[in-house]
Amino acid sequence: MTALKTLILGSGPAGYTAAIYAARANLAPVLLAGRQPGGQLTITSEVENYPGFPHGVMGPEMMEKFKEQAERFGTVVHMNVGTAVDLKQRPFTVSCDDGQVFKTQTLIISTGASAQYLGLPNEKALQGRGVSACATCDGFFFKNKVVYVVGGGDSACEEANFLTKFASKVFLVVRRDALRASKIMQKRALENPKIEVLWEQTVADVLDVKAGKVNGLVLQSTRTGAKKQVPADGLFLAIGHQPNTELFKGVLSMDEKGYIKTVPGKTATNVPGVFAAGDCQDSYYRQAITAAGTGCMAAIEVERWLEEQHDK
Ligand code: NAP
Repeated sequence: MTALKTLILGSGPAGYTAAIYAARANLAPVLLAGRQPGGQLTITSEVENYPGFPHGVMGPEMMEKFKEQAERFGTVVHMNVGTAVDLKQRPFTVSCDDGQVFKTQTLIISTGASAQYLGLPNEKALQGRGVSACATCDGFFFKNKVVYVVGGGDSACEEANFLTKFASKVFLVVRRDALRASKIMQKRALENPKIEVLWEQTVADVLDVKAGKVNGLVLQSTRTGAKKQVPADGLFLAIGHQPNTELFKGVLSMDEKGYIKTVPGKTATNVPGVFAAGDCQDSYYRQAITAAGTGCMAAIEVERWLEEQHDK
């Protein structure tokens, strides 16, 4: 099997930008779209802060454009998921859920991040039946309903505010006595008459699996441990994200949360020939534009790395 020059894992802004640059550098990239083709932007509504779209653009539409641009220059996109990697020897090997196996001289990891859940047994069972981690995707279904948002960061405040467009009442469940969100986001949430903050509370259970939908929650005080049951129509989680880096545990250097460590100012990882871009290596900015920027960096680093190997 001839090895590819570069293989890209993930199809968010980082992956497709890497593909555009790699394709234009004649590296004939192959991109595996992964579990969520198009990435996190496909579960948002309007993107208003991506330069070049003065009137905003819908997230899914933007990702279609990224794909189209990558394919225009020859990127081959596979709608499959990388399930195993061997980075111990070059060329690297990537095996996929559909049985395909790829050999590649370099690898660009842009597998992104996924929303975190509380880990309650009923939470998964009621996902899509009142439990959601995306207010912009599901808020519409909660017209005149009572919903709870868990979290105290910018996402939680933003989602709570967004949900007031539909819901009759939004409770913001905050585990401490303070919000982590930026001042402006805090102000918007605290001044919204439809939002009530429940300080030092957490969600201990979601009801009711038998009914097949959310109809209540068990709240627990993080100070006293006291529990109480409340009626609820929806539960939105906004407690951060988890990088999708399971495949690389024990192989690539990561921080304590599982974000891939890269050389400062670069996308190179601790394994020569392996590069990481976007949210799988960035817990700080987490923006489409920064992900795209690091995708571009990864492709340029791949090109130079391959040239260096050739010169050796
Ligand atoms: P975050 O800043 O990490 O905040 C997570 C929040 O969830 C914190 O309040 C945390 O509580 C809480 N939390 C975590 N685990 C919990 C648990 N098990 N139970 C209850 N609460 C829990 O995450 P984020 O809000 O998603 O923001 C991530 C990054 O994106 C930030 O840099 C943020 O500024 C940025 N962002 C910006 C915007 C914007 O500017 N428009 C919008 C969204 C996100 P503690 O505070 O007690 O740890």
